[in-house]
Amino acid sequence: MAIIVQKFGGTSVADAEKIKRAANRAIQRAQEGHQVVVVASARGKQTDQLVADALELNPNPSKREMDQLLSTGEQQTVSLMAMAMDAMGHKAVSFTGAQVKMLTDSSHSKARIQSIGADIILNELNDGKIVIIAGFQGVDEKGNITTLGRGGSDTSAVALAAAIGAEECEIYTDVDGIYTTDPRKYKEAVKIDQISYDEMLEMASLGAGVMHGRAIEFGKKYNVTIHVRSSIEETQGTLITHEVPQMEGILVSGATIQKELAKITLTNIANHPGNAAKVFAHLAQAKVSVNDIIQTEVSDQSANLSFTVDKADLADAQKTIKQIKEEVECDEIFVREDIAEVSAVGIGMRTHSGVANRMFSALAEAKINIDSITTSEIRISCLVDKDQGEEALKVVCDAFELDKDPSDRSF
Ligand code: ADP
Ligand code: ASP
Ligand code: MG
Repeated sequence: MAIIVQKFGGTSVADAEKIKRAANRAIQRAQEGHQVVVVASARGKQTDQLVADALELNPNPSKREMDQLLSTGEQQTVSLMAMAMDAMGHKAVSFTGAQVKMLTDSSHSKARIQSIGADIILNELNDGKIVIIAGFQGVDEKGNITTLGRGGSDTSAVALAAAIGAEECEIYTDVDGIYTTDPRKYKEAVKIDQISYDEMLEMASLGAGVMHGRAIEFGKKYNVTIHVRSSIEETQGTLITHEVPQMEGILVSGATIQKELAKITLTNIANHPGNAAKVFAHLAQAKVSVNDIIQTEVSDQSANLSFTVDKADLADAQKTIKQIKEEVECDEIFVREDIAEVSAVGIGMRTHSGVANRMFSALAEAKINIDSITTSEIRISCLVDKDQGEEALKVVCDAFELDKDPSDRSF
């Protein structure tokens, strides 16, 4: 009997009716003969509300206490869901992250999963129960509650699926799949039937909030097929899987915009071996995740070094850089917060040329200036002025015909 993991996001469990609908889906699967694990998020906008409650009392709350607070949202949903299933006549049991030994490191607010107590879950499944687990949370080795970062219930679900050998992980959400770009920002976006882990990983880390990036990493590493689909309609959604040959033919699969980021520039840092390493070692120690890095040599003696970080990490990054300014012999530190990053992603770029040219020309025609460019094998990203960000996204989507099915595109 195959095990299925079903994850329900905040909007899909926002009220009693929605919890019942989600419970019903799980029960249906159980009645088809599957063993079902449900992972649930906090109801509606509850996590945002809890954040606001905290900030009202303390503008700079400790990360440990924030995790302690935010984890309560998910805990409410899972017990309510278990009660709903019970009322519908199906055996169910709910657990917090700590109760299923979802062990993480101690990086509060962005903890990484280290191990999961699969036996606890399997025993309950073998007892005929649907097991409902609070997403987004874990526990460190000292017993402190941790959270995995906003949107982290996706990661809980895929990691659980991997740990218990589930056949598939279904992500039920308020869109019916993954689109070429966020359909709220570009209404002509089209749904993608199938996308590779690598592309989805890039899209997630570049701002496509539909999936938490770490979830895709787990999926790829442990071969879990992820099915992103609607919690309202019964339609087929998008499969996130390993690459298949026909994906190569698609030059650009999707586009993203990331507005919650900042760029830090260190001018004229000493140009000798080990200096850049020093900068990033200090940032790593401060648990700052760095996105893109650009270094250009100014002369034999000096170089300019820029990098981007998520806004959430900006204060820590700035503090760290100020502390080492003398040590790395840097002239000045500039911070830009009025920027947005617009990216095009597609594994077809590996084998086709002309993608960068098409993107830069389209932006130029729209009179959008590019601050800086970074690339990987399967993506091109441009930093632009924040107030032109949404327009730049539209320009890029139009340039790559992301309003059409891949077979109808002209390149
Ligand atoms: P959940 O609460 O179910 O986890 P999220 O709000 O985290 O839902 O993710 C779903 C949202 O992601 C959608 O409502 C949509 O606006 C947004 N989104 C961003 N990029 C995309 C994309 N490429 N395809 C689909 N949805 C996207
Ligand atoms: N409730 C958490 C959040 O709003 C986690 C999640 O929904 O995945 O970010
Ligand atoms: Mg989400």
